Amino acid sequence: MNAARFPDQRGRYGKFGGRYVPETLVAALDRLQAGVDRHLHSADFQAEYHLELKTWVGRPTALTYADSLSRRWGARVWLKREDLAHTGAHKINNAIGQTLLAKRLGAKRIIAETGAGQHGVASAAAAARLGLPCVVYMGAVDVERQAPNVGRMKLMGATVVPVTSGDATLRAAIDEALRDWVSDPEGTYYSLGSAVGPHPYPYLVRELQSVIGREARTQMQEQAGALPDVAVACVGGGSNAIGLFHPFLDDAGVQLLGIEAGGRGAGLGDNAASLTFGTPGVLQGSYTLILQDADGQVRETHSVSAGLDYSGVGPEHAHLMSSGRVVYEAATDAEALSALTECAECEGILPAIETAHAFAGARRYAAAHPGARILIGCSGRGDKDMPILQRTILKDAV
Ligand SMILES: *Cc1c(COP(=O)(O)O)cnc(C)c1O
Repeated sequence: MNAARFPDQRGRYGKFGGRYVPETLVAALDRLQAGVDRHLHSADFQAEYHLELKTWVGRPTALTYADSLSRRWGARVWLKREDLAHTGAHKINNAIGQTLLAKRLGAKRIIAETGAGQHGVASAAAAARLGLPCVVYMGAVDVERQAPNVGRMKLMGATVVPVTSGDATLRAAIDEALRDWVSDPEGTYYSLGSAVGPHPYPYLVRELQSVIGREARTQMQEQAGALPDVAVACVGGGSNAIGLFHPFLDDAGVQLLGIEAGGRGAGLGDNAASLTFGTPGVLQGSYTLILQDADGQVRETHSVSAGLDYSGVGPEHAHLMSSGRVVYEAATDAEALSALTECAECEGILPAIETAHAFAGARRYAAAHPGARILIGCSGRGDKDMPILQRTILKDAV
């Protein structure tokens, strides 16, 4: 397959993607599209972006050989350490890139949505760095659940607006950010946090996150002398996964494995695995796979990890699944938590609960493919998850 072909002119990845938005948003998206076409791949923008990645974000992030996990799993395991990036996850690659773009488009303020708070923190940091005011929409439920991240955003000068409409979580926060944006599409830049939403966001976010896979590809060749047999990443909206996978799409020998949040099980409402259990439909401007009931009502999701708890997924992943290039599986809450403990004990690395889903999937792959070279996208660190880890894994210990 020729990955460079996607998306097409209309923002489609095969039959997925596109732009399903009210008339009021079309002009704003056209403006963004023109800005992306003009700046994103210009030498000037790329130089500025890469300087920020190097001197502020801390890139390239390390590739770590996981010696103990490798011996335990009977495989060879490398970790691409996005947990070492500034603010503790891959989200910053996208946030700083979009904020640099916002400046070039003459925006006077940044708005963003956030679920677990990681994109909110990254956006607040990027806006502070570049001297723009920042408003973060966050579901009221998540404001409660993610108090430490709310504090971090405020300390960096952002205004956090709790959203009480709808499900009062990520989906409602995105709706509210879109509403804000249409009221002032020229002065305001909407920095979207994952590879979802209407075109050109899934493309823009993929391009900004592909630095993960480009670095990992070179580092594997340097350290392992070969490309991996498989690259594994967790999938919420799908930004860290597409960033890791995209530079490997044309490497036929590299299998790609995306791991979704399997939650409590396969029932509707018990998980957030839109690719594994979803059906085609339109969510927040994009035709993709979504968790909906027989009447097309989008359903609430469940996952132990707030960052994967979303009822849709980026359209490029829906396409990569239907083309067969990428395989997607789900890992349950329990599998993720046990993989998290194993990684922490073996490697001295506490991954985010989102990230732990990738470890759970990789462990399964290793059991079926002894000796395989496995590259895991370590999307973020777990410090933010301490309150929930206290209540789950540590409950007997405290
Ligand atoms: C937000 C987040 C995710 C999920 O988002 P994607 O867009 O699917 O990458 C995964 N891991 C971490 C650490 C996150 O913060």
